[in-house]
Amino acid sequence: MADMEKDIRFVRGVGEKRAASLAKLGITDLRSLISYFPRRYEDRRGCTPIAAAGAGDSVCIHAMLARDAQLSRVRRGMELLKVRAVDDSGAADITFFNQSYLKPRLTAGSVFRIWGRMEVSGSRRSMVNPVMEPDGSPELLTGRIVPVYPLTSGVNQGLIMRAVIQGLAECGDDFPDYLPRGVAEREKLAQPRFAYNNIHFPESPEALALARDRLIFEELFVFACALKRLGAMKGRLDGPVIGCESAEPFFASLPFPPTGAQRRAAADAIADMRSGKAMNRLVQGDVGSGKTLVAAACIWAVCSSGAQCAMMAPTEILARQHFETLTRQLAPLGIEAVLLTGSMTARQKREALKKLADGSAHVAVGTHALISGGVDFKNLALVVTDEQHRFGVRQRAALSEKGGSPHVLVMSATPIPRTLALMLYGDLDVSVIDELPPGRQKVDTFAVGQAYRERLNRFIEKLVGEGRQVFVVCPRIEDGELPDNSIRSAEEHAKYLSGALRGVRVACVHGRMKPKEKDALMAAFVSGEIDVLVSTTVVEVGVDVPNAALMIVENAERFGLSQLHQLRGRVGRGVHKSYCVLVSDAQNPEARERLAALCRTNDGFELAEEDLRMRGPGDFFGSRQHGLPDMHIADLCTDMDLLKRAQDEAGRVLDDDPTLSKPENSALNARLASLFDMSRSAMN
Ligand code: ADP
Ligand code: MG
Repeated sequence: MADMEKDIRFVRGVGEKRAASLAKLGITDLRSLISYFPRRYEDRRGCTPIAAAGAGDSVCIHAMLARDAQLSRVRRGMELLKVRAVDDSGAADITFFNQSYLKPRLTAGSVFRIWGRMEVSGSRRSMVNPVMEPDGSPELLTGRIVPVYPLTSGVNQGLIMRAVIQGLAECGDDFPDYLPRGVAEREKLAQPRFAYNNIHFPESPEALALARDRLIFEELFVFACALKRLGAMKGRLDGPVIGCESAEPFFASLPFPPTGAQRRAAADAIADMRSGKAMNRLVQGDVGSGKTLVAAACIWAVCSSGAQCAMMAPTEILARQHFETLTRQLAPLGIEAVLLTGSMTARQKREALKKLADGSAHVAVGTHALISGGVDFKNLALVVTDEQHRFGVRQRAALSEKGGSPHVLVMSATPIPRTLALMLYGDLDVSVIDELPPGRQKVDTFAVGQAYRERLNRFIEKLVGEGRQVFVVCPRIEDGELPDNSIRSAEEHAKYLSGALRGVRVACVHGRMKPKEKDALMAAFVSGEIDVLVSTTVVEVGVDVPNAALMIVENAERFGLSQLHQLRGRVGRGVHKSYCVLVSDAQNPEARERLAALCRTNDGFELAEEDLRMRGPGDFFGSRQHGLPDMHIADLCTDMDLLKRAQDEAGRVLDDDPTLSKPENSALNARLASLFDMSRSAMN
């Protein structure tokens, strides 16, 4: 195989500067270059007589220039270059804006292939800024199916295309190939060389389809093998056996009955923990579905069997909230929880640690401080992590090491679409909480522009006047990001709101505050001393403030779909009618599509499928999460059939050769090893 790790800088014609631009797209080496696939294609084959092109059609014409191009200056900073092109059927006027450098090449009598949009007005035909290639030159941008790549600032189509052409040339006959020969034959898949060349520069739509099938299949196959191996490794662990049979005594002690879904999830987990094998279960339920109660039930079951639990939350605020909830529910039943956070004094910490080591405390609740060195449990049997997408593999692995192989219960509000869950079953068991506690209301959601600002401010005043509270979330402004007058930091926006709102107490939680200060502010918000809390995404995960009835997200285009859904989940938790307002003037279609999806539905599963479709699973889980690569080409929502076939083949290959030591599996084995290596380095 050609050296796929070859640094992109050393690919001919790239160099330092272009490499830095390409790196923004994740293109860093030869492999990622040739695996940077087009988003779509334009069919520029065929040639249309000028007179036959309809108004607004994008066409390729083959024409001679009737005279030399004429340059004129319309005003400062605006130059027009005009030329007339003719073929047997007619003529078209071609205009270029600010491309005077083309002039020397556009001479009378020269013949070009020209691709562009034909405008027709009366009998006059014209094109603006078309692509022109001299007749007889290699067909690059005209006369073929042309790839269209996803771009970012500073990178244009031409740059990517030239780099890809060079990358493909450097691979020669030697493309990545992870499919054992038997698999490629059984599945009738195209050869790698054919697949890579045609995915970028398809000879025909049929060739493109074959190329896609091959590459999608391969990607899913490698993914399926990786998951299968991860699953196999976990499956062997024995876990502590819990004596408790049911959480009903715990449920009976609550002021409200659990939902059927909460009961089922707790029963699933308890059955796992009695089985002798280490539990690895994901509880997924939409925001507000009551996952914390399932955790509490499991913790109760473990503690009443004489063992200890740890519960990790992604933020200190949330850890404190869980600590308070657990204490309220479990202390009356004789179970003591301790809180462990980074901002505690050394003395408080020492005391909590002592109780965990001698077993007088049963539950530790905390942030990552929980797993930093020096925490010893007497008898740790269950680790609960909240909002899994915030936790890396590393933290969970470190915590597991503290007590042999404790049971692991992961709670996530990011629903895994059916297709993906199907793939992941080898790795995790899943309980779905598909029922909301009684009395929950739909959160009415609106997408509005800046023009709506005044009305929005009056709406805040009205709700606050009725005694409600409001969350306002602003995007985090990255270090070094250029100030843009359409984006205000949380602090600036809080200042603005304090001035614009009458009789409203506004406060701001921001990144530079100490955890203690943040906590104090959150506490003031929870107790109702603050009406409007402005923040970056710190409120995203888990905080429960039933009196909050309005969530406003500023520059909503900057947030992902799942993230927005999570934010919206912060309201509508009490008895009050609740609203979510997404403020954005962004025009790009993807952002508009996201906002429209949120206005359309409150269903987290539906949104998750949409999100997965738009972003792919790598982003969806956060690659830190599973340690696996992003999907480049497969679409897990639509490539179901290939997915099933890939999984079957993965099972077949691994059953036949579990260690992948046969020669025909060596490339696959090396690929998996490098993936696991990636996930291990993500853990260290
Ligand atoms: P999430 O799944 O988003 O973590 P929480 O566990 O924070 O949801 O629960 C949201 C709210 O619903 C909490 O205020 C909790 O007390 C309440 N709740 C949970 N289960 C029930 C239930 N069965 N009946 C009534 N309220 C419940
Ligand atoms: Mg929660």
